[in-house]
Amino acid sequence: MKPTAINPGRRNFLTGRRLSSPDRVRPPWTRAASVDAACSGCGACVPACPQHIIALDESGRPALDFTAGECSFCGACADTCPEPVFDRAITAFEHVAVIGSSCFAARGIVCQSCGDACPESAIRFRPRLGGPAVPELAADRCNGCGACIAVCPAGAVSASTRPLEAAHG
Ligand code: SF4
Ligand code: SF4
Ligand code: SF4
Repeated sequence: MKPTAINPGRRNFLTGRRLSSPDRVRPPWTRAASVDAACSGCGACVPACPQHIIALDESGRPALDFTAGECSFCGACADTCPEPVFDRAITAFEHVAVIGSSCFAARGIVCQSCGDACPESAIRFRPRLGGPAVPELAADRCNGCGACIAVCPAGAVSASTRPLEAAHG
């Protein structure tokens, strides 16, 4: 499965540089088609986000940077947008989090930061002999908030297309 996002780096976000990754995570309650069709590039959603995770990409469209923080689903981006880009009736995100092979547990280092941060208790740790417990992510519980991406010290978590068997909403 090909990850769909997102490691543009916190520095880019803080310095106001635009995101350059070819893959995007768009704001909640939007889809690529609605952003492409209706976003005027006004940028109103960028300062509206209290989590400071929205930046404009090189096409002037909003993209999320989960390395800077998680989405709290506050709705400020949707409330601020003057165009028909957001639809609060749809599932906020199509992606879920995926834990990659660079997780510290694979290198014998104890870490449970992602599990501690997850508001949905979607990450459990499976004990094993001879090494630290290994995180396992239940995609059907994940709401895509990105909290686990923001806190992972190994950069091991990314957003990826929701598996078909876990699709809902
Ligand atoms: S819902 Fe709130 S926290 Fe999430 S991207 Fe929109 S403004 Fe930011
Ligand atoms: S926060 Fe990152 S390094 Fe730590 S257990 Fe989770 S995936 Fe592994
Ligand atoms: S994206 Fe949010 S809900 Fe999903 S596993 Fe990470 S912290 Fe939990």
